[in-house]
Amino acid sequence: MPSPSALFSQRSLIFTLLLLLASGFLATSLLSYYASRGAIRDGIVNTELPLTSDTVYSEIQKDLIRPVQISAMMAQNTFLRDWVLAGEQNPERITRYLGEVMDTQNTCTSFFVSDRTLTYYQAKGVLKQVKPDAWRDAWYFRLRNLQQPYEINVDLDMANQDKLTVFINHQMLDYQQRFIGAVGVGLSVESVVRLIDDYQRRYQRAVLFTDSQGKIVLTGTGGGPHGLRAGQQLADSDQWQDLLSRLPTPTAGSHEYKDNEGHAHFLNVRLLPELDWYLLVDKRETEALDRIRQSLYLNLAICTMITLVVLSLLGAMVRRHQANAEALATLDSLTGLPNRRSFDLLAGQALIEAQRDSAPLVALLIDLDHFKALNDTYGHLAGDEVLRQFANVLQGSLRQSDILCRWGGEEFIVLLRETEGRQAIEVAEKIRRRTEQLIFSYADQPLRLTVSIGLSGLQRGDSLHALLTRADHALYRAKQGGRNRVCSETPGTEHV
Ligand code: GH3
Ligand code: MG
Ligand code: MG
Repeated sequence: MPSPSALFSQRSLIFTLLLLLASGFLATSLLSYYASRGAIRDGIVNTELPLTSDTVYSEIQKDLIRPVQISAMMAQNTFLRDWVLAGEQNPERITRYLGEVMDTQNTCTSFFVSDRTLTYYQAKGVLKQVKPDAWRDAWYFRLRNLQQPYEINVDLDMANQDKLTVFINHQMLDYQQRFIGAVGVGLSVESVVRLIDDYQRRYQRAVLFTDSQGKIVLTGTGGGPHGLRAGQQLADSDQWQDLLSRLPTPTAGSHEYKDNEGHAHFLNVRLLPELDWYLLVDKRETEALDRIRQSLYLNLAICTMITLVVLSLLGAMVRRHQANAEALATLDSLTGLPNRRSFDLLAGQALIEAQRDSAPLVALLIDLDHFKALNDTYGHLAGDEVLRQFANVLQGSLRQSDILCRWGGEEFIVLLRETEGRQAIEVAEKIRRRTEQLIFSYADQPLRLTVSIGLSGLQRGDSLHALLTRADHALYRAKQGGRNRVCSETPGTEHV
């Protein structure tokens, strides 16, 4: 049995190793996780989002900037102004003009609304009259009072199967700078919307355009983050509360904020000066970091497994080492027989059992005769070899249940369990005879040996010491009697 202190040191060794391995693995896993996280965040903030913004920006430039220039040219067109000022005669002239603009500039519609008659002209003819109370015509009455010469309006085009269209609504002024109508073109923003959809779907990025007040003017088909649609304010979604409390209106630059569910977001905001719009590209940190978070968990799982395997191997090694050490502590290294220490334990137990069961028990004290002379003649190594061979003789002469030990030097003790005096004498005689008859050998030299054996049976109330003292007396008598003999010290048995 390992001593409590050995158990404690074994546990503390395993615990220290566990602590070292776990903290080492944890530290390296976390360090690499945070390093990759830093690199990914850098990539998002400095590369990914600005790149998306650039691409979307150049697409919108293609789609919108040119039509603004076309509308400005239409507003300056002398023919158109003269035709309006002359009382809008022959509408086919204006519709032909609008048709030419559409064809040559490749827009999906072109229009003119007269302020005097509120007539809405387009390439196919007169479409309708605009009405101040119709929500579809609100843009016109807004444009009238606008400070800037034009506005860009994302709307459904009634004349074009209600497709999502960007209208460039330009004021038309007469030669005295008085408002005489609205002119402009409309064009499909499907390519920009498709691009936004693509980014939103494939790269989990939200892309939207707002005006300077944070009103959404354009986003993907399915809406922006949280389904925000064109016409709504950023503030209409809970997601932006944290950001809007710091930046109430869109501000160009890179921002980080937390949404209402506590997820961190990266946001790139860019001003489109030509349109006075802001382009917002937003990415949720969680999604970007999902992969490395998964590899962190995998890492930790592998490290835990390695730690457990190492610790169980170590535990097995320690246990084996301990078992070896224990075996070494209880066995005699020369003969492999139990030593005195283990004999005390075994004999103590055997005595208790014999006393309890009133079973007979006999002790034999065995001493090799003239062993010193053998050592002196043939050398110490020869003595060692003889001791080993004699141990085999002993083992071969006894039962499994008998207790045998090297008592020290060239003395051995045997406890014969459940053995009466006469049987014991027979066993002792067998040992003596076999030893006498055996030719021991060392380095091909034949060696002869005899033994003297003192024998004593256990008495009621005997201690181990009393039993062995009697056996020792018997051994003394055997030596005195001329050696190579068995003497008994148990009352009632015959002295040999
Ligand atoms: P006796 O017949 O009276 O027992 O004589 P003896 O020579 O056997 O007794 P003694 O006690 O004088 O000497 C015992 C010798 O056993 C002395 C010692 O050197 C030797 N001896 C004890 N242990 C070992 C051992 O492990 N190996 C060897 N080679 N010799 C040992
Ligand atoms: Mg001796
Ligand atoms: Mg001796």
